[in-house]
Parts: sequence; C-alpha cells; structure tokens
Amino acid sequence: MIPTHIGRKLGRQRSGILSLIALLLLSIASGCSQSNKNQETNTEQFPPVQEAASTPLEQSEKTKVVTTFLPMYLFTKAVAGDVADVKLLVPPSTEVHDYQATPDNVKAIATANVMVKNGLGLEKFLKDTVKNAQNPKLIEINASKGIKSLNEISPVEETTKVEKDHDHAEGNPHVWLDPVLAKQQVINIREGLIAADPKNQATYKANAAAYIQQLESLNSEFQQTLQKTPNCTFITFHDAFPYLAQRYKLQQVAVVEIPEDQLSPQDVQNAVNVVKKYKVKALFSEAGVDNKLLASLSKDLKLTLRTLDSLEAGQTDPQYYFKVMKANLETLETACK
Ligand SMILES: [Zn+2]
Repeated sequence: MIPTHIGRKLGRQRSGILSLIALLLLSIASGCSQSNKNQETNTEQFPPVQEAASTPLEQSEKTKVVTTFLPMYLFTKAVAGDVADVKLLVPPSTEVHDYQATPDNVKAIATANVMVKNGLGLEKFLKDTVKNAQNPKLIEINASKGIKSLNEISPVEETTKVEKDHDHAEGNPHVWLDPVLAKQQVINIREGLIAADPKNQATYKANAAAYIQQLESLNSEFQQTLQKTPNCTFITFHDAFPYLAQRYKLQQVAVVEIPEDQLSPQDVQNAVNVVKKYKVKALFSEAGVDNKLLASLSKDLKLTLRTLDSLEAGQTDPQYYFKVMKANLETLETACK
C-alpha cells in the first residue's frame, strides 16, 4: 500500500474535478529477466553520512553516488554493482512528485561524488537541497539527457479548465516506463559513472551491457505482445504512460484526475461519454490506490479497473524493474483483448 500516493494526487487537484486529457497507449513488456528476486535491499534507512576524516579507507575508496528516486536507483545500481556506493534519496516507499527533502538528504549530497537524477523537472526537491549541500565537486548525471520529452498531451476532452501541471513543465518526466528510453537512461548513467570513476569503467560497461540486453528483450516482448491489439484505448489516473503508449501504439485517450470530493453526476457522465466516444477498452489505476471513487467510476463505465505500476515506489533490487514491467505488460494484454 502506498497511501501517500493517492494523497499526493489529491493534493495536486485543482479546483477542477475531472479533467480528461488526450491519452496514450501502453504496453508492457515481459520477458527478459529470469530472476525475479523479491528480496528488498534496505535502502530506506541509509547509514548516516560519515565525515570524510572518520571514513574508513576502504569506504572512502568507493565513489559515492546518490540517486534521486527508485528507477534512478535501480538503473544506477545495475550499472555500478558493488564497485560504487549507491544510495537513494527518496525512500523507495515514498512518492517523488511532491517529495520534501530531509536534512539527511542534504548531508548525503554534501558528501557524494556523483548524483544521478531523472531530470525533466521531476525532482523538484533537488534545487534547494543541492544548494544547501554546498558541494562544488558534485558531478550531476542527468539520465534523460538527449531524450526528447513529450509536451503536455493536448486535451481532447475536459470538463473544467485545467492549469498547466507544473509537474510536467519540462515535458512529461515518466520516460523510464518506456524500455527503449530506459536503455538511453542506462547509457547516460554508464557514461557519467565512467567519466567520474574511470578506473572502474570495465565493470560499468559489463554491467550496463547485461542490463541493456534485458531491456532490449523487454522491448521485444512488449512489441510482440501489443501488436496483437493495435490502438488499444485506455484511460488512466496518473499521466505516467505517454512514452510507453507512443512506443507501442496504444492510445491514452484521457487522464481522469481524481477529485478530493465526490465526483458529481456530471463528471461521471462526462467520463462515460469519453469512454463511448473513443471506445475505451481499459481503465487503469495504480497499485496501493484504494479509492471508492475509482471503483464507482469503473462501475459506471462498465470497465474493469486494473492497476499499472509507474515504478515510483517499490523494491530496490535492479531486477524489480523487469518484474513490474512484465506485470504491466500482462495487465495491458488482458485489458486490451
Ligand atoms: Zn508520476
């Protein structure tokens, strides 16, 4: 359960109750990872940052890398293995969108050599945190470097005026949910780590190659599976899947924002109209979100409510990415039939 997730969304609600925005399509990949290890690495409480003077030699020899949120940790850990010391700033159970930095985050950045972020405006907490950390030697890796962001999807249906979502001021940030763009992020992380820590470049290259191979298999699996249901149309409650949809020719036709209060009969009617107009096949919520409004909406829409995972929270084993993406693919395959 991720109770903060829905709270965050509700907190983001504008006065508008329900906004329907053009959608994208999704697809899921399954396939490439053989090992779905469930063990959770305990990155939630990372050890207190040590003063340089008291750091044992053995530890100080490893490059210290801080990563912002779960997918960045997964990709960086996959590339670094054990040759660098990789930490996570946003705890893996916590939502990144409205995250507030802690004093420990400032300390971790102050003593880090490298910081890996998703970019595209996602990590709003970083600006002040990095400033407060006063670490002029910090090397920043922007994992989305070179990735062309999708701008706000142009609304096809909306019931109320929607302000520009500042989450997406620099384009939608959810690029890690497209295996092809995830590969680009892994490459960016690999190149950044090699530049910061050239003595371990052979390890970074080998680890990245193995992970990239898995991402490529995942991509193939998504392609093969979802080409059977072209232009599957869906509605989602978190605008996290435009890249995935574009990649695999799914159609996200609406993003329904969950209101803080009850949906009005008019809101429900508008959603029903969109479903009819676009022959929507699927309605996707998120893991851990237990909302009566979604349930009643899905009932009114006569569509099964299924969950897609945006990987913003979860487990810290790098293989967790493949486990979740394969589950997402199965969900899409079922929903789009
Ligand atoms: Zn998100």
